[in-house]
Amino acid sequence: MTTGRLYIISAPSGAGKTSLVKQLFAELDGLTVSVSHTTRPMRSGERHGSDYFFVSVGEFKAMIENQAFLEHAQVFDNFYGTAQQTVQDNLASGLDVILEIDWQGAQQVRRMVPASQSIFILPPSIEVLRQRLQNRGQDDAEVIARRMRDAVTEMSHYPEFDYLVVNDDFELALSQLKSIIVANRLRQDVQQQNLVGLLQDLLN
Ligand code: GDP
Ligand code: ADP
Ligand code: 5GP
Repeated sequence: MTTGRLYIISAPSGAGKTSLVKQLFAELDGLTVSVSHTTRPMRSGERHGSDYFFVSVGEFKAMIENQAFLEHAQVFDNFYGTAQQTVQDNLASGLDVILEIDWQGAQQVRRMVPASQSIFILPPSIEVLRQRLQNRGQDDAEVIARRMRDAVTEMSHYPEFDYLVVNDDFELALSQLKSIIVANRLRQDVQQQNLVGLLQDLLN
């Protein structure tokens, strides 16, 4: 069995990465999504342990000291981090793992896991991005203004990513994300391990 591949997905808040990743997980086997730790307040409808592990700043800092994070960063005014043990276990069991993290976390993960692949999701326009944050109806005006200010900084990091996907038509963006993952599963170095028996039969 081959180990899974690690995918980093970044985007400005509101571009649609959570919606896309949720649907990707529903439609593609062999995939899991990492649940981050955060110190931000829980939104209505979110659940501890499935959307995020919601922790206090003290708990978060203790995890940093215990080197429990693969990566962590301050995003907007809160801390976010990816616990490393679960990611490692899932990759070892052969699952592809998706991290929905910001550009700072993406830089850290690329350094730690050079075989990871990174995808940046762009909104079709700034106005649509603002509209999506407003329509989502989860953040107050001040929080939305802050996220719009940080969106340009986040997007300026697009050249660091392996793939760019524009989330205008949801179904198209979803199928493009799927293509990236499926293509990676067909890479020669991966298939060579999956197809040991077949390759032996064909070549002997
Ligand atoms: P949040 O991250 O907690 O805000 O939750 P999501 O943004 O992942 O989900 C919001 C809802 O919008 C979900 O029910 C999604 O399936 C839905 N959704 C997102 N984008 C689209 C879209 O383009 N078309 C449709 N039909 N539904 C969408
Ligand atoms: P993010 O996780 O990047 O902050 P979300 O997945 O929460 O973004 O999406 C932000 C809002 O935009 C949500 O209300 C979602 O339903 C909506 N949305 C996402 N993708 C599309 C799309 N292609 N077309 C229209 N609305 C979308
Ligand atoms: P939100 O509060 O909207 O769920 O997420 C805000 C931002 O934090 C998003 O841009 C998201 O990419 C980033 N983020 C979420 N989880 C993590 C994480 O574990 N690590 C890092 N570095 N960023 C994260």
